[in-house]
Amino acid sequence: MKTRTRFAPSPTGYMHIGNLRTALYEYLIAKSADGDFLLRIEDTDQKRYVEGATDIIYSTLKTVGMNWDEGPDIGGAYGPYVQSERKPIYAEYAHKLVELGGAHYCFCAPKEDADDDETEENAVPSKFQDPCKRLTLEEARARIAAGEPYTVRQTINKKGKSHFHDEVYGDIEIDYDDLDEGVLLKTDGFPTYNFANVIDDHLMEITHVVRGNEYISSTPKYNLIYETFGWTPPVYVHVPQVMKDAQHKLSKRNGDASFQDLVAKGYLPAAILNYIALLGWNPGDDREIFSLDELEKAFSVERLNKSPAIFDIVKLTWMNGCYIRELSAEKFHELAMPWYEKCLTRSLNLEMLSKVLQPRVETLAEIAEQTGFLEAVSDYNLALYENKKMKTDGKVAATALKLTADRLPQIEQWNNESLFECLKALAAENSLKNGQILYPLRIALSGRETTAGGATEIAAVLGREETLARVEAALSKLGD
Ligand code: GLU
Repeated sequence: MKTRTRFAPSPTGYMHIGNLRTALYEYLIAKSADGDFLLRIEDTDQKRYVEGATDIIYSTLKTVGMNWDEGPDIGGAYGPYVQSERKPIYAEYAHKLVELGGAHYCFCAPKEDADDDETEENAVPSKFQDPCKRLTLEEARARIAAGEPYTVRQTINKKGKSHFHDEVYGDIEIDYDDLDEGVLLKTDGFPTYNFANVIDDHLMEITHVVRGNEYISSTPKYNLIYETFGWTPPVYVHVPQVMKDAQHKLSKRNGDASFQDLVAKGYLPAAILNYIALLGWNPGDDREIFSLDELEKAFSVERLNKSPAIFDIVKLTWMNGCYIRELSAEKFHELAMPWYEKCLTRSLNLEMLSKVLQPRVETLAEIAEQTGFLEAVSDYNLALYENKKMKTDGKVAATALKLTADRLPQIEQWNNESLFECLKALAAENSLKNGQILYPLRIALSGRETTAGGATEIAAVLGREETLARVEAALSKLGD
């Protein structure tokens, strides 16, 4: 049987890191077995529908390179792939399930404040008290024919324990008494998730279902539906939630729970994907850097684990730095450009700036922190010129900067290499150490003790005119 998996997001307008990880594992299970990866949009909860949300799902998956074989936009033999377009299918199967004894029609009015699904689902206090279970099918059908609103509610008559196997959590046992007889088809004819997922996974011939462990407790209810129809349930792969720390889930409120948040903070899609692959899966050796292709080759369900997956931004940042350093110089420059445009207005040698920054930043957002002084030197303390290791102080700095100011106009090629050679020669001619020329120059150009890039690199980025202006400004500051 061909392996078929599906990513089934609800269009919330937000790609939570945990959902993207689910999609990745679904994708890897399919692709490592030469199978199909489907995209199904679960939009049956119309009240939660967010405009444009489907596009975010498409663009995120495309950006990370997880292409789907069937889906709403490209079709396929098992469509439609949007649940709201499958309404008649759910109705048909809901009525069939009633006939088979796996569900019953229910006329209990939802509570008055029932304006969301959950309340509607829970409107009946306990399965053993649902008066509609005592209606005969004829009585129920007559009431429906008379126009009475109804829901289709699951019937659970079993007693004892339900058992099922999960690839990550092993053998699971849940008491039938702990299951509620929830709504499967709502009064508006839309299915609940609890029904639609079973019907769709069966009709779409899904072989493996990956989802968060919050679904474990409902799985026996899904299995009852499969059983009543005489269908085989898929292989279950429940994964632990992605946590912020031991107690808290990674939530929207943290501002870094979604793929979009992380991209906006200067993380590269490939690094994010690599990092989340390791949140709950390990390759069995100490490798950490994986492209999507490499993941396909290395992935196996057996190496998924159930320990809580704690999202470690420090680790992601480190990994992102590795990815940044692996980019070609051109690619880094292209990715850095929008960040330059956001924070720099003065005319600078940006190619040079990219060369300086690429080995030194771990996220693209660091570009803003590292380049603030290129716009303007903030007022700084003259004590910065005192540095024991460099053997400089205000006096040495004044001498060195004067020599530098006289020499800079003579430099023919305004680039890092020739600036460096020329200032080294200047130091030698004047019996100074290189640092005694270069350290004061760096302070003069940046007003900072540490910078990404040395004095001559900064000078190359700033250009001759601005470099000279800053050296002159430093000299008059030192002269005051
Ligand atoms: N629409 C569900 C969700 O976003 C899908 C769960 C599943 O994969 O079955 O949580």
